[in-house]
Amino acid sequence: RANVRKITTSSQALDGLLGGGIETRTMTEFFGEFGSGKTQICHQVSVNVQLPPEKGGLSGKAVYIDTEGTFRWERIEAMAKAQGIDPDSAMSNIYYMRAINTDHQIAIGDDLQELINKDPAIKVVIVDSVTSHFRAEYVGRENLAVRQQKLNKHLHQLVRLAEVYELAVIVTNQVMSRPDMFYGDPTVAVGGHTLYHTPGIRVQVKKSRGNRRIARMVDAPHLPEGEVVFAITEEGIRD
Ligand code: ADP
Ligand code: MG
Repeated sequence: RANVRKITTSSQALDGLLGGGIETRTMTEFFGEFGSGKTQICHQVSVNVQLPPEKGGLSGKAVYIDTEGTFRWERIEAMAKAQGIDPDSAMSNIYYMRAINTDHQIAIGDDLQELINKDPAIKVVIVDSVTSHFRAEYVGRENLAVRQQKLNKHLHQLVRLAEVYELAVIVTNQVMSRPDMFYGDPTVAVGGHTLYHTPGIRVQVKKSRGNRRIARMVDAPHLPEGEVVFAITEEGIRD
């Protein structure tokens, strides 16, 4: 796996689980229940990618595609300050895009190549979450095949971007923690495993006590399976 670089999550434990951090040339999926910390991790990485390599970054920029309207500049500001990054420059190094529906999300995906060609400093593309619009718009079994086909095409386009432009791609996927909630959504199997298969790394995040969270590596091709604990603080993701 030549030329793979890593972006720190600001948690040594989570970085350890990931084999050193979020990898370039790969898509990393964080899946888990509401409030498990997926969006906070995305915010943290969009700040940390800006750090110099000696501090765990890539001196790069981020693209943040927000499908749920949960992106908060105040969180970027707080996380940047905690890292010693000027908040204004941190914000100017994030291309924020709000995707309002699947067609819009796919159109943004189609335009990414052009944006990255214009600004090669982009080192991470984040889609938070990649599934919510698809789930909302394609309801019921009769729409499942077309939903999966469109979602898979979108995901594979993101994977190709990661490989061709040697950047990190992060997607999130909200999955209910209660198995009985899975009925009615046949793309989600009991146990929290979605049925689509894309290349890359899958990490499950779960709530624990207070601000503690558990991250679990799932089916990683080159990383050991395991679980670690991290925390969500005012300053961001921490051990
Ligand atoms: P998900 O995206 O998985 O639904 P989030 O990443 O939005 O979950 O995590 C939400 C949690 O992050 C909140 O429940 C809270 O515990 C924590 N959080 C959010 N903002 C802050 C903050 N400013 N200070 C400390 N913790 C925060
Ligand atoms: Mg979220």
